[in-house]
Amino acid sequence: MYRDFLTGDWQTRSACRGEDPELFFPVGDSGPALLQAADAKAVCRLCSVTEACLRWAMDAGEVHGIWGGTDEGDRRLIRRGAARAAAASRTADV
Ligand code: SF4
Repeated sequence: MYRDFLTGDWQTRSACRGEDPELFFPVGDSGPALLQAADAKAVCRLCSVTEACLRWAMDAGEVHGIWGGTDEGDRRLIRRGAARAAAASRTADV
């Protein structure tokens, strides 16, 4: 099973079970790596546990790989958006 090290029951329903784990860890950010990331994300689009997977990756601070249909850059944008929203909320409370 893909990502056996995770706990919880959501990964038993993952669409990436049986896929080569290497698919989800493209090396680099251009050329073949972009195509590989797109292929991995295509698997994620068929997955019923995308939200749980992404939440796990965000909570774990996963830097590398495709998780919940996102790559490193996607997750960085999500973190920045969350940080901006938190800052705006603090400003609104003042
Ligand atoms: S969202 Fe993608 S990486 Fe996560 S469990 Fe599903 S197929 Fe695997």
